[in-house]
Amino acid sequence: MSDRTGHLAQMDHRYLWHPFTHLSEWLAVPPLIVERAEGVYLYDTEGRRYLDGVSSLWVNIHGHNRAEINRAITDQLGRVAHSTLLGLANPPAVELAARLVALAPGRLSRVFYSDTGACAVEIALKMAFQYWQNLGQRRRIKFLALENAYHGDTVGSMSVGDMSLYYDLYRPLLFEVLRAPSPYCYRCSLGREPQTCGLACADELGRLLAAHAEEVAAVILEPLVQGAAGMIVAPPGYLKKVEQYCRQYGVLLICDEVATGFGRTGRMFACEHEGVEPDLMAVAKGITGGYLPLAATLATEEIFRAFVGGPEKTLYHGHTYTGNPLACAAALASLDLFEKERTLEKLGPKIGLLSRLLAPLKEHPHVGEVRQKGFMVGIELVADKSRCRPYPPQARIGHRVCMQCRPKGVIIRPLGDVVVLMPPLVIEEPELRRLVAAVAEAVDEVCGRGDGA
Ligand code: PMP
Repeated sequence: MSDRTGHLAQMDHRYLWHPFTHLSEWLAVPPLIVERAEGVYLYDTEGRRYLDGVSSLWVNIHGHNRAEINRAITDQLGRVAHSTLLGLANPPAVELAARLVALAPGRLSRVFYSDTGACAVEIALKMAFQYWQNLGQRRRIKFLALENAYHGDTVGSMSVGDMSLYYDLYRPLLFEVLRAPSPYCYRCSLGREPQTCGLACADELGRLLAAHAEEVAAVILEPLVQGAAGMIVAPPGYLKKVEQYCRQYGVLLICDEVATGFGRTGRMFACEHEGVEPDLMAVAKGITGGYLPLAATLATEEIFRAFVGGPEKTLYHGHTYTGNPLACAAALASLDLFEKERTLEKLGPKIGLLSRLLAPLKEHPHVGEVRQKGFMVGIELVADKSRCRPYPPQARIGHRVCMQCRPKGVIIRPLGDVVVLMPPLVIEEPELRRLVAAVAEAVDEVCGRGDGA
């Protein structure tokens, strides 16, 4: 290790507090310090190269250090780095809003900016809540969310989330929500089989709505893929059925496309796969191609109109960096690249290749399920395949598999014992093959080939 790396590592351990990180584990080994990046590769301070297998936490789309996005940011920097949207406008924020509305599913026609996914969700919740208040429907104050949901780490987004490891401690701070089953066929909480259940989990949501129709402001869910819970892919038709129940009972539908948006599932937005038209939609992560923090909550005109009026109708919500011109310029450049490079068209065959490459892993004695929607992949590792029995959490199997990939030049990050693959959409066939090969080897090396029963 060079002196410089050693010094940085020491300072990291001395001064930083890393998010979502087991600190004792972190402090036990020197950190990998990323210094630069190019395309689908990250380079550390020792000059070692790693494939960015999770798109730098699900954000990178067109590769790192793209001249087009860099230039858009520096051009904007020569004009103004930041000016507020509270009482003023700026060209990139205005232009991006129009581009997002043109791309967004259904009737979404208004864009409210913020800077993280959690924030975009909070704003959607507040908009849904206040929408009904502004209409005089005072009793509609509840939200319905799914088991295994993840919507971010602020208090409101945690309330609609359902990740017991992360949230149980905070329960006294969180508001109550109605909870419908997760469309998690591998571990169905209703004990049903996907071939015969007739989407019983969606019907359960319908039953909850029927029982609480007058009190519910909105249903919130991650469309098609519950990401942080382990890339849980909903069965076909589930999302559409939920939308139908929302319409039947007159409640708003909030789609959290923070993880699924901007091409991840093979379409620009996951809702498009089933022709679903949300009333509110939260986006973040990939919106700038992974270059700068930006998020947005999109709303229909009907919702927007309910807020037009005097002070009592106003949405009292805003953040200092809302609509930051640099971030909006990066997002515009990313959308230009989608068009110029026909990113989504080229993605189709790569999604097919990825699923062929993953197929042999399904036979592995410690792979319970391989889930894939587009370029979102979750490989669920289990101790006993025949009984779907998980490993004990303290075995840290998912973490160990990911660390085993490091010397192979691949960076990935697990969700519990689900190994996640989410490469940049721009990745080409040779790198895709390398990524899956490294992961398959690592699973073998860590889990072994015995059935473990
Ligand atoms: N919603 C979903 C579906 C997410 O996957 C995430 C982040 N993984 C968030 C919200 C929170 O986004 P952020 O980390 O930008 O706050």
